[in-house]
Amino acid sequence: MSDQAAGRASLADLYPRIVKPRAASGAPANMPDYHQAHRTFTWEAARGLLDGLPGGRGLNIAHEAVDRHATGPHADRHALRWIGRGGGRRILTYRDLMIATNRFANTLRGLGVREGDSVFVLAGRIPELYIAVLGALKVKCVVSPLFSAFGPEPLMTRLDIGEGRVLVTTEPLYRRKVAAIRSQLPKLEHVILVPEDREAATEVPGTLDWRQVVEQQSPDFVIPPTSPEDRALLHFTSGTTGRPKGAIHVHEAVVTHHITGRYALDLHDDDIFWCTADPGWVTGTSYGIIAPLTNGVTSIVVEAEFDAATWYGVLQNERVSVWYTAPTAIRMMMKLGTDAVRGFDLSALRFLASVGEPLNPEAVIWGQQAFGKPFHDNWWQTETGGIMIANFVAMDVKPGSMGMPLPGIGAGIVRRNDDGGVSQIDEPMVEGELALKAGWPSMMRGYLHEEERYRKCFAGPWYLTGDLAMRDADGYYWFVGRSDDVIKSSGHLIGPFEVESTLMEHPAVAEAGVIGKPDPMAGEIVKAFVALNPGFSPSEALRRELLGHARKRLGAVVAPKEIDFSTGLPRTRSGKIMRRLLKARELGLPEGDLSTLEGDVR
Ligand code: AMP
Repeated sequence: MSDQAAGRASLADLYPRIVKPRAASGAPANMPDYHQAHRTFTWEAARGLLDGLPGGRGLNIAHEAVDRHATGPHADRHALRWIGRGGGRRILTYRDLMIATNRFANTLRGLGVREGDSVFVLAGRIPELYIAVLGALKVKCVVSPLFSAFGPEPLMTRLDIGEGRVLVTTEPLYRRKVAAIRSQLPKLEHVILVPEDREAATEVPGTLDWRQVVEQQSPDFVIPPTSPEDRALLHFTSGTTGRPKGAIHVHEAVVTHHITGRYALDLHDDDIFWCTADPGWVTGTSYGIIAPLTNGVTSIVVEAEFDAATWYGVLQNERVSVWYTAPTAIRMMMKLGTDAVRGFDLSALRFLASVGEPLNPEAVIWGQQAFGKPFHDNWWQTETGGIMIANFVAMDVKPGSMGMPLPGIGAGIVRRNDDGGVSQIDEPMVEGELALKAGWPSMMRGYLHEEERYRKCFAGPWYLTGDLAMRDADGYYWFVGRSDDVIKSSGHLIGPFEVESTLMEHPAVAEAGVIGKPDPMAGEIVKAFVALNPGFSPSEALRRELLGHARKRLGAVVAPKEIDFSTGLPRTRSGKIMRRLLKARELGLPEGDLSTLEGDVR
C-alpha cells in the first residue's frame, strides 16, 4: 500500500461515520433506501422520468430543461435567479427562459448555423451564457462553454480543436483575449458580443451585437427531431501529454443529469438550488445549468467570485435549500471559523454537497458544526458527464470517503495487467485504479479527433478513470490520488504539458517540467522547473518575467505560481520529463524506481 493509501485507510478509523436518522424529517428522500434502489434501478426507468420531444421526436436536453416546464404548471416559476457582481438581479422564469433561448436559436438559424456546428461561449456567469448554451442545444449545435479566466493560449487551442464556428462572449473578454488570436481561427465565422453596459452603443469590427441580433428575433422555435445520440456538449479536459482532450457528450446525457439531480443532490420540486461552479468546467454545466432545470427547481447564479460573507448572504437571502460547492471554497470558509456563519439565518439549508477534489474529513465535519449538516462528498469527472459516486442523503456519511456508486453504475477497483487487460481487486482497502462499467447515458462518446486516446480509456467492460482509489468492506470508495501527472488546483484540472509548452515559448527557456505541489488550501498549486538556454542565467527578475509571461498567455488559474531554475530536468531514456521524480525531490520523498532515468540531472 502506498503512503498516500495508508493515510486514506487510517481516515476510516479516525473519523466516526455520521449516522443519518432513519426516520427523515421534512420531505422524504428521493432515494430512501440506497441498497434497494441499487437492486431495482434501470436506466429505462430513469429515462421514463423525462418527457421526450413532443410527438415522439426524440430527446433534447433543452426541451427537458426548459420547454417542458415553460409549457406546464412551472411556467412562472423562477428558473434562474441571477445575482450580479454589483448586486443587480435578473430573474428568468421558465417561460422567460424558453422565449430567450428560442430567440437565440432563431439567431443561429438566421446566421446559417447548422446542427452539429460548434458554438463556444466565453463569459462570466451572466444570464446570456445560460441562454446561449440552451438555445444552441435547441438547434442541435455542439456547445462548449469556456472558462473566462483562461488566457488567449488555452482559448485558442480549445476553439481550434473544437472548430468553433460561433463564439458568444462579452466585449471586454473579446478585446482582451480573443481579438489578437482571431486571425488564427479561420473557422470562427461569427462572434456575438454581449455588451457590458446594456445602454451604451458599441461597435467592435468583425462582431455582432447581442442586442441587435438576438433580442429582435421571434420568440417561437420548434426544436427539430433529436436523436439521443446526437452530439450536444463538448468539454475540454487535460491529460498528461499533448493537447487538451475534447470530451463529447450527447443529448442522452440528460438522463444522468436528471437522475443524479434527484438522487445525489436530492432535488425536490420546491428547492432553491445553488451550484457554485462555473459553467466553464463540467460541474457548472451539468449541475449549474442542466440538472436543476430538468428537475424544475429554482437555480441561483452568482456572478461574483468567492467571498465567504457574500456567499452566506446569498444562502440566507435566497433561502437556498440545496447547495453544491467545492473543497477549496469550504476550506476557505473553515479558515474564517464558524463564528462568521452565526449571524446568518441559514435555516432553509437542507442538503450540502461537494465535488471536484478530495474533501478532507475535517471539512465534512466542519459542515456539521457550521451549518448543522455535513458536506456530502461526491465524485465524477468530465468524461463521466455526471455524478458517479456519492454520499447519498439517506446514507450514513463516512468523512473522507467519496461514497457509493450511483444506482445503475457498476464500479470497481482494478489493477492493470501487462497484457493490456485489467483484473479486479476484491479485497477491501487495497489500492488500485477506479474503474466503471461502461455504458451509462452521460458517458463521453469520444475525445474529439483523438480515437486512440479514447480507446486507451477502456479495458474489456471497464472505463478506466485514471484515479487511484480503494473500496472498504461496506462498499464506500476512498480517493487515493491521480494515476498520472495531471494537476488539480482549486478544483481545476490542469495539464502540465500545456503549461510546459507555454513556458518553452519564452526565449530563455530550454526545457520545462511542471508538477502539482501540495497546498493546504488549493489542494495543489502549479509549480514549474525550468532549465535555461545558453546566454541566460537565473535571477529574480527572470523568474518574475517567466511568471508574467505564463500568466499573460495562460491566465491566472493555469499559470504556475512558483518557478524554480534547474540546470537540467530528469528525463526517461525515451526523452519524457520525469515529473514524478521532480515531485518526489520537491517533497523530499523517496525517488522510487529510477531505472528508466537518462543520466542524473538535477
Ligand atoms: P474534472 O474532469 O475536471 O471534473 O476532474 C475530475 C477529477 O477530479 C477526477 O478524476 C478526480 O481526480 C478529481 N475529483 C473529482 N471529484 C473528486 C472527489 N470527490 N474526491 C477526490 N477527487 C475528485
